[in-house]
Amino acid sequence: MPQSKGYAAQDSKSPLRPFNFSRREPGPSEIAIEILFCGVCHSDLHMARNEWGNAIYPMVPGHEIVGRVTASGKDVKKFKTGGIAAVGVIVDSCRHCAPCNRGEEHFCAEGATLTYAAKDRVDSSITMGGYSNNYVVDERFAHAVPSNLDLAAVAPLLCAGITTYSPMRHWKAGPGKKVGIIGLGGLGHMALKFAHSFGAHAVQLTTNERKREDAIRLGADEVIVSKDPVQMKAHVSSFDFILDCVSAPHAMDDYLPLLNQDGTLALVGLPDKPPSFAPFNLITNRRSIAGSMIGGMPETQQMLDYCGKNNITADVEVIPVQKINEAFERMLKQDVKYRFVIDMSTLK
Ligand code: NAP
Ligand code: ZN
Ligand code: ZN
Repeated sequence: MPQSKGYAAQDSKSPLRPFNFSRREPGPSEIAIEILFCGVCHSDLHMARNEWGNAIYPMVPGHEIVGRVTASGKDVKKFKTGGIAAVGVIVDSCRHCAPCNRGEEHFCAEGATLTYAAKDRVDSSITMGGYSNNYVVDERFAHAVPSNLDLAAVAPLLCAGITTYSPMRHWKAGPGKKVGIIGLGGLGHMALKFAHSFGAHAVQLTTNERKREDAIRLGADEVIVSKDPVQMKAHVSSFDFILDCVSAPHAMDDYLPLLNQDGTLALVGLPDKPPSFAPFNLITNRRSIAGSMIGGMPETQQMLDYCGKNNITADVEVIPVQKINEAFERMLKQDVKYRFVIDMSTLK
């Protein structure tokens, strides 16, 4: 394997900078890919700045990877050299526990291996992510990409896509259900596309009145500006399901009263401060708060196939890798429509 290069955080405060490292040759069931595009997830920013306290430096972020297969081990069945493969948030797991056997590798009893800033199960190195020129991964943790989709716009499906598809399926977003999405960002805009595509009455909640038109274009039947108590009050006790895609601390008590009887508010957003809420807002209507995390390998493939059939991809702004620090700052200002994707050919 040639020397790898990428952009890395060296600590929680400095901007990402060019960084050289090495990866192993692919083993019998592994593929090597040349990365073409990598999405920029808000988790990359949380991680690079150590907002969750589990950073390992140097850190090459990136877990929304689409690339071309450049080599494959002798036992590889799913991929051929020259084909396209995609990699998401996890790249390995124990492969024998009950969740792994069910194809829910993200819930691996021994802990799944993250695409970056984790200890590799094969060679004990620290995994380096997709803000780089190549990756080596077992074929079980790589996905086929529908040939009709634009590859830059596919990359965000590997995290933002599966993270929203999975809970929308689990909580049965569909006809006759009123489904809310909090936050119109990378995850939120995919959640909205899925809720709409599954036939639910999709309602976008946003802090930003200027996103109203976009939300409607992306599939919202209604838009609520969450800062306006009058708009919020009009929807009290009316939602079956709400997916909270917000990256920053926010008041749960603003949103819980919107749930109808037995309604669920599921968190996918991961602010760095624990949420709090008034118990009365939960006991009323027997409401639930839940959580959801990416998805297993079979469901991720199912999501990609669904996107292929229904022509669903992310709305992306493609950037050169040299603009990654600017992209992080713009993401913090909610100035992204609706996912940055790095064109990795710009990595020289
Ligand atoms: P993003 O693109 O930055 O979007 C976050 C959105 O949150 C913003 O667009 C904004 O929407 C809303 N928001 C921000 N601050 C807010 C505030 N103070 N109050 C209310 N709304 C606010 O981020 P992302 O990439 O979609 O990621 C969202 C979160 O999900 C992150 O915390 C990320 O780490 C997490 N995540 C979790 C998983 C998982 O498996 N559970 C997977 C991936 C990411 P409006 O402008 O519309 O208000
Ligand atoms: Zn992510
Ligand atoms: Zn396992």
